Amino acid sequence: MKPFFLTLVALLATFPLFAQETPDNEVKAYTGEVYVEHQGSYTPSFKIDGSKARVRNVILLIGDGMGQGAVNAGMYANGGELTLTNLRTIGYVRTQSADNFTTDSAASGTAYATGEKTNNGYVGMNTERERIPDIPEILSPLGYACGVLSTDDLNGATPAAFFAHQSARGEKDAIWADLPGSSLTFASAGTQAVFEGQPLSTQDAIRSRFSVVYSPDDPAVASSRRLLYLPETVSLERGNYLPATTEMAIEYLAARGKKGFFLMVEGARIDKYEHGNEFDGTVKEMLDFDKAVEAAVRFAERDGHTLVIISADHETGGTILSRATPDEGYAAGVFASKGHTPMMVPLFAYGPRSREFSCVQENSDVARKILQLLGGKK
Ligand SMILES: [Zn+2]
Repeated sequence: MKPFFLTLVALLATFPLFAQETPDNEVKAYTGEVYVEHQGSYTPSFKIDGSKARVRNVILLIGDGMGQGAVNAGMYANGGELTLTNLRTIGYVRTQSADNFTTDSAASGTAYATGEKTNNGYVGMNTERERIPDIPEILSPLGYACGVLSTDDLNGATPAAFFAHQSARGEKDAIWADLPGSSLTFASAGTQAVFEGQPLSTQDAIRSRFSVVYSPDDPAVASSRRLLYLPETVSLERGNYLPATTEMAIEYLAARGKKGFFLMVEGARIDKYEHGNEFDGTVKEMLDFDKAVEAAVRFAERDGHTLVIISADHETGGTILSRATPDEGYAAGVFASKGHTPMMVPLFAYGPRSREFSCVQENSDVARKILQLLGGKK
């Protein structure tokens, strides 16, 4: 018995050495923290939620890179609440692209915009590099007014997927040049400077089809038939641009769609802060995005025929909330990656027929269901 006992002691003595071994991460994870002011949240009545009423309008809000980590970080930093997490219809979305287990924003944006999976880097094109009709192209001939709004540049992959057809997301000029031929009635993204940096021929083509304004108070807005509104900045200094322009876009499209409207709103910069492993920026962008969600849900509540869907194109950063004191607006987190991850992303929905999204689904399924609800064939 004695040798066995000694062996056991020897084994136990070495165990902590093994237990302390940690994986050698390539990524040097940044741990950040933030204090934010409680911005509150909005809870709708749920009277229309999940009803069988006809869906006239769809507002799709995409938080770029908004995985569970970003939602948790934003919610607990904001006293434990978000308008997003007040909703009752919850699902999950799988984000894989046609050629990569971990998608980029181009392939996932295209899936949300067309109902078809494609390769990373492709915008509005299938794997054979053929144009795929996007939701605005399918719905506008039916009498719907369609719009996109983003805190990215207009040539950013997510807004671009709703109007452009290019097999290289980096072809920024070509993406801008696709705008005049698009089916959009409303677009707001990027900046005045980016627009003015486009070739004059592109600017002229856009101006021939859209009224281009640099302020939401420009008198040209009311009389215009198609609008491109370009803010001065889309960085965090933009103030309430995203929620205010969400309201503006809803009003603009509701007045022009004979049958209804479709609006895509992107909170683009959650992803950008996660790429930089900047926890405070991730939380602030998440909270700004939630205000846009609130604007959409408030409209849906008043309207009764509007379905609001909120999800993400992919997770970014392997973002984890590690600690929080919700009452103090304090949250701390850590990142496992500087890139995208293949994790499923949460989906929230509010309005008639919302329950159809309460399942585990592909990103491409979300677009197909939207088109079915609005009577567009796919
Ligand atoms: Zn990204």
